Amino acid sequence: MKYVPTIGIECHVQLKTKSKLFAAVDNDARAAKPNDLTSPICFGLPGTLPVLNEQAVALGIKAGIALNAEIAQHMKFDRKHYFYPDLPKGYQITQFDQPIVGEGWVEYAVDGEKVKVGIERAHLEEDAGKSTHPNGETYSLVDLNRAGTPLLEVVSKPDMHSPAQARGYAQELYNLMKFAEVSNVDLYHGNMRFDVNVSIAPVEAGELGTRAEVKNLNSFKAVERATAYEIKRQTKLLERGEDILQETRGWDDSKQKTVSQRSKENAHDYRYFPEPDIPPIKITQAQVDEITNNMPMMPSQVRVRLIDQGVSAAQAEVMIGQRELALIATKVAVVEPDVTQAVVNWLATDVMATVNDDNDFDWSNLQLDAGRLIELAQMVADNKLSSNGASDVVKVMMISNKPPATIADEENLLQISDEGQIEKIVDAVIESNPDAANDVRNGEQKAIGFLVGQVMKQSQGQANPKQAKDLLTKKLGS
Ligand code: MN
Repeated sequence: MKYVPTIGIECHVQLKTKSKLFAAVDNDARAAKPNDLTSPICFGLPGTLPVLNEQAVALGIKAGIALNAEIAQHMKFDRKHYFYPDLPKGYQITQFDQPIVGEGWVEYAVDGEKVKVGIERAHLEEDAGKSTHPNGETYSLVDLNRAGTPLLEVVSKPDMHSPAQARGYAQELYNLMKFAEVSNVDLYHGNMRFDVNVSIAPVEAGELGTRAEVKNLNSFKAVERATAYEIKRQTKLLERGEDILQETRGWDDSKQKTVSQRSKENAHDYRYFPEPDIPPIKITQAQVDEITNNMPMMPSQVRVRLIDQGVSAAQAEVMIGQRELALIATKVAVVEPDVTQAVVNWLATDVMATVNDDNDFDWSNLQLDAGRLIELAQMVADNKLSSNGASDVVKVMMISNKPPATIADEENLLQISDEGQIEKIVDAVIESNPDAANDVRNGEQKAIGFLVGQVMKQSQGQANPKQAKDLLTKKLGS
């Protein structure tokens, strides 16, 4: 029997606010000792009251705009109850029926084909703390540094139908959150955690099968592989006539398989009710307009601007993969569209090759800017620099803030395009290679390549080879 997989993805995006969602406590726990970044609110002590972080609301709106989504005019917070040691209040403050972001969509390409995935909603909520279970001990440790960190949970519609589409969605969501500057998108530190819902059903069934949810995936590869594994596992069960359980599963990266964790609670088990300590919030159109008008460049705009100038879709994705490069390339496309392709070539090949060779390369030290790269393209157009020479200059420009002309001069890369100067070298080469010169005079075109090579050698590679060839042809009358 043929089955169609249906996939939906929930993603918890950590927002890059200065402080926590409901407490004036630093939000960056990366370098902190356990429980250093806490307050009575993080511990859920009786008598404390949450105060909503305005910056988190602004970033939530911004993320919603990046998702082409409706922004709520009214939103409220709710309590979601569950009992776990890293959740001291016994409930999580989240949004149930009036989330900050409503329906939207995300569009991306998989193997050149466009995929459009609907966004169901996105809501603000606080993160829980972290439990660790020391090996061989009879106790567990709880660190509440992360408790209260603002998250935006983005829920897609079940619009994906293959592991590659699931991976593409995760990757594009990452691009969007990064370009919108709402999150540090540090996957290693769990800034984006994907939960993938997978079900399969016979092609002709017309309804969805029972789904399993694989929780807490933190890489695009894991999203793709866990999805593929689930499709295979569920297909086998159905083919054997067995039932698929609605359950939560985890991904074992070392074994490359999903494992059952628990059967899924139903929504009413959480006893959701409105959070009485935070009043409902009104979001004004003026607030949304203000953020809309100040949105940074989005990946879709990068694609349009670059592809309009002849850049390939694949190269546009390389630029999007490194936001610093995308911003430079799009600026060039606006200021000096004709040299866009040349600049993108340098960024996609010379710059990326240098970075790939140097594991310690720090993007924040990148010295390239659009203006200087346009100057460099102009030098090539003016025959002051060969294309090889330009590649060498780009590599130096990455780490030096000198203008390209200075670098080319210092590195001895300037091309000789002065007619008089090249003519002198050409004359000398003809004189010292009479046989080859005669061959050319007699119409043997092969010999001209040899003479051009001699000119290049004499000029230490700095002569403009095209000019040298033209001069030789003129002088030898061929
Ligand atoms: Mn959640």
